Amino acid sequence: MSITKCYICGGKPIKKEVSVENWWGETFTIVENVPAWVCEDCGEQYFDSETTLKLNALRKHKRNPTRFIQVPIYNYKIESSARKLF
Ligand SMILES: [Zn+2]
Repeated sequence: MSITKCYICGGKPIKKEVSVENWWGETFTIVENVPAWVCEDCGEQYFDSETTLKLNALRKHKRNPTRFIQVPIYNYKIESSARKLF
């Protein structure tokens, strides 16, 4: 399957691999090296039905991850009141 036109802006999607970020319930996950069509103009990502099925299966079976990263989390309210950032 090939996507030739972006549904959002009409731009031209090109095939590349992306990282898909998702919340699986309480768990924030990233799936790397996912084949997608990405609009060159607005960045919108499109996945074909086979890829979508495989992503859903991965979410359902929750296998052991390839690797872990630590994610820094900021609280906007605390940061904006405690420091002169804005
Ligand atoms: Zn677009």
